Amino acid sequence: MSSSITSPNNTERYHARVISRQGKRYLVETDDSKQHLCHVRSKALETICGDRVICQRQNQSLDVIESIQTRDNQITRLDNFNRQKTVAANIDHMLIVVAALPEFSSLIVDQYLACASLIRCKASLVVNKAELAYQQSMDVKQITQTYQPLCEQVIFVSAKLGYGLQSLRHLLNDDYAIMVGQSGVGKSSLINRLLNTQQIKVSALSDGIQQGMHTTSHASAYDVGLGKIIDSPGVRSFSPIFAKEDRIVDGFQEFADFAADCKFSNCEHLKEPHCAVKEAVDKGQIMPSRYTNYKTLHEQHSCQNSFY
Ligand code: GDP
Ligand code: ZN
Repeated sequence: MSSSITSPNNTERYHARVISRQGKRYLVETDDSKQHLCHVRSKALETICGDRVICQRQNQSLDVIESIQTRDNQITRLDNFNRQKTVAANIDHMLIVVAALPEFSSLIVDQYLACASLIRCKASLVVNKAELAYQQSMDVKQITQTYQPLCEQVIFVSAKLGYGLQSLRHLLNDDYAIMVGQSGVGKSSLINRLLNTQQIKVSALSDGIQQGMHTTSHASAYDVGLGKIIDSPGVRSFSPIFAKEDRIVDGFQEFADFAADCKFSNCEHLKEPHCAVKEAVDKGQIMPSRYTNYKTLHEQHSCQNSFY
């Protein structure tokens, strides 16, 4: 149901979600999947894909985005000039794509997982190119054992063979998701595969709305049947940057089960004595690769902070 609000002067307002931007115009969608083209009331309203907004209906012209609701989260990337650029908001689910080729990197996965934890969104591990896993001696068992407890799901797919795509759609479960991962793992191929239904949906829009939909450099949310994927080259190449105040340890959720037993309440699980997290690693209760990656990311973050 789309919710509409009528004010005393009889102006109709409605809640919607920004799904695309074309120049100065924004395509918004209500909960009941109705789409409207809008412009923003003031340039100061920096609206991005995924924003929840309140719009005002206009009879003679485009509807107007009046206000943006507080974001649950947002993802920010560095542009070519090292400036931070916010690319999408209110992400429910981060799909971390990996493959046997290019070689699986647990450090990259742990970096994305930490980012998902810190911005409080769900994460799933999507192992693409599943048909190459055996031939490339990918340690599927180890990957599943490590990440199954930390993710919504670990799912094996192949964009090439069309394998696992329906399960991937089901995994979305009405979420606004993004696909991330290192270059070459098959994100574009998966998105193109998932978009088959979207092409039909887009062509159902009026010509005016459809114009330029696929040429925009801004992120757009594409309907993939059972959820939406927010995508743009910027989103796909998004690599997590941690804020100064972020605590990397908060991105390693399984450490919390043990940290209460560390001798020092502010233990960072590095060189401190009587550290229950390090003991859990020694006992095999925490995966050694997770602990090693934690130390690497913690070190990188400390170096980065010393430059602020
Ligand atoms: P991206 O950089 O993550 O967007 O990756 P691309 O979608 O551009 O894919 C990189 C390469 O992997 C291309 O040559 C694709 O054809 C290939 N590729 C993508 N998915 C699969 C797959 O499931 N199996 C195999 N064997 N190759 C794939
Ligand atoms: Zn500790």
